[in-house]
Amino acid sequence: MNDTVPATSTLDASTCLREVFGYDSFRGDQQAIVDQVIAGGDAVVLMPTGGGKSITYQVPALVRPGTGLVVSPLIALMHDQVAALLANGVRAAYLNSTQLPHERQEVEQAYLAGELDLVYVAPERLNLPQTKQLLQRGRLSVIAIDEAHCVSQWGHDFRPDYLQLGALADDFPGVPRMALTATATQATHREIAQRLNLPDARHFVASFDRPNIQYRIEPKTDPRRQLVAFIGSMPAGATGIVYGLSRKTVEQTAEYLCGQGIDALPYHAGLPAEVRAANQSRFLREDGVVMVATIAFGMGIDKPDVRFVAHIDLPKSVEGYYQETGRAGRDGEASIAWMAYGLGDVVQQRRFIDAGEGDRAFKQRQQQHLDAMLALCETVGCRRQNLLGYFGESSGPCGNCDTCLTPPETWDGLVPAQKLLSTIVRLQRERGQSFGAGHLIDILRGGDTQRIRQQGHDKLATFGIGADLSEQDWRSVVRQLLARGLLVSQGEYGVLGLSETSGGVLRGESPVPLRRDVLGRSGGSSRVRKSSVAEQVAEGDRPLFEALRAWRAEQAREQGVPAYVVFNDATLRALAQLRPASVTDLDGISGIGAKKREAYGESVLAVVAAG
Ligand code: ADP
Ligand code: ZN
Repeated sequence: MNDTVPATSTLDASTCLREVFGYDSFRGDQQAIVDQVIAGGDAVVLMPTGGGKSITYQVPALVRPGTGLVVSPLIALMHDQVAALLANGVRAAYLNSTQLPHERQEVEQAYLAGELDLVYVAPERLNLPQTKQLLQRGRLSVIAIDEAHCVSQWGHDFRPDYLQLGALADDFPGVPRMALTATATQATHREIAQRLNLPDARHFVASFDRPNIQYRIEPKTDPRRQLVAFIGSMPAGATGIVYGLSRKTVEQTAEYLCGQGIDALPYHAGLPAEVRAANQSRFLREDGVVMVATIAFGMGIDKPDVRFVAHIDLPKSVEGYYQETGRAGRDGEASIAWMAYGLGDVVQQRRFIDAGEGDRAFKQRQQQHLDAMLALCETVGCRRQNLLGYFGESSGPCGNCDTCLTPPETWDGLVPAQKLLSTIVRLQRERGQSFGAGHLIDILRGGDTQRIRQQGHDKLATFGIGADLSEQDWRSVVRQLLARGLLVSQGEYGVLGLSETSGGVLRGESPVPLRRDVLGRSGGSSRVRKSSVAEQVAEGDRPLFEALRAWRAEQAREQGVPAYVVFNDATLRALAQLRPASVTDLDGISGIGAKKREAYGESVLAVVAAG
């Protein structure tokens, strides 16, 4: 905290952005938000992950007199957030339970002496009377409530302590307040403004598109093998997250990946806290770790260079899926969201809903969430268009998803659908029996199984009438009929039954266009955009880029901070391309502000000169 930025009161927003953060210009709504808050107004900011929310409160905190207060639920990340600010010469600190009493006292004194630009506090600490009294004795410039969707009681990140933050309006009159989140739904948006007591705030709602993320969903046949093939199609050493539904899947998958030579770690709520912390810390600090996790690994994963997010189980909702995939490519560089999805997922999710807690209305809502997710999986249109449409944004085909890059073929599934439905009807009417997909497919394909012989199902009129399709094809038919509600799966064993709309198909009144599954796209055959920063570096600059990376790793190790706190990948790429020869040449390079120029200038110029 001994390095200081230029006297804050004389700084205007653009100079601050350039001098402190090393950026040429504001992006998107950043300028408008910063202007609103510097003028003393409140703001509600909805911006996707990677949109650049931090700048919108950090710049006002530096420009306005006093200290900016950042309310964040993520104690584990405060250390790195503060380290990143200190690296830019910003006088930042945090107050939380990981500190020793004398460390906390030092921060409190610095605050009261007006020597802090920003202070991070968790909501539970902020709600303590002594914390508020302390803050009232000093001077706040702005209050930023990060991850503001935590105030929503219906969301999965709900934190009761957030409900008390509405009182900040009265506790700190005249201090502009901001609520920031990457959660897009309208309902959450309204709830944030209401519960955080921001009736007069200006609302800034950015597009939720993440154009640098390529969406891909492929049929699930052998998920682990498919996953390994997908990871193998990424550049070596790519950092990624693999999401699975259960703790068991997570552990087994992590083990399997390790056996395949991939540096994978597990993360789920059942692991001891110290194992979770150690795995998270390795993921954040090292290059190329693949974290296999349940959704417990989530909010606020602040690593900017996650190159892929893979789902090996179907998420429960489009909101969840979008939030999870959004953790890829925060730095704006090309990244991939990949998912393997199959019939088993549909049956399993329906079973969870049936067997789960909650009244009818609740189950109906869950069912709607699942239906939207299935529609995304089965669409023959652009995935991104479907996703953005779900959040109320209209757009054209994106050119950067699997269906845009390799448009799927459709085929007429009416006859197979009729064969399947009539088998179900016959079994029910003639024998009062219901079965799951596996046995029905055996009947249709004329299989010779013990169950068929015992039950005498080879006597059914539909026995063997579907032998023209492979088992895989049939599973695809069943999956798509289920996804569209032309078939329902029930009970513990996922037995199949007719839905209200099945009749139209049986009578041949409704067409049944189906998507033809293409297997094994993950092998890299599709046109993948250059997906790593290393690949975007011209061949001739590659050795220098690698030398800079090694230098950065060394710096990060010495200081005990993640590599991106030193310089991000885009900055290294610019250095390798522009080959600055003097300290003044560093000025035009994005991400090098005054402090970093001073701290690393000579050292990085030496690496460039040697390269
Ligand atoms: P968010 O909090 O919205 O997920 P961040 O604040 O972490 O996003 O910013 C995402 C990335 O974009 C960071 O690497 C940040 O340094 C970079 N960034 C933000 N604003 C700008 C800007 N105006 N110019 C260049 N880079 C920016
Ligand atoms: Zn598309």
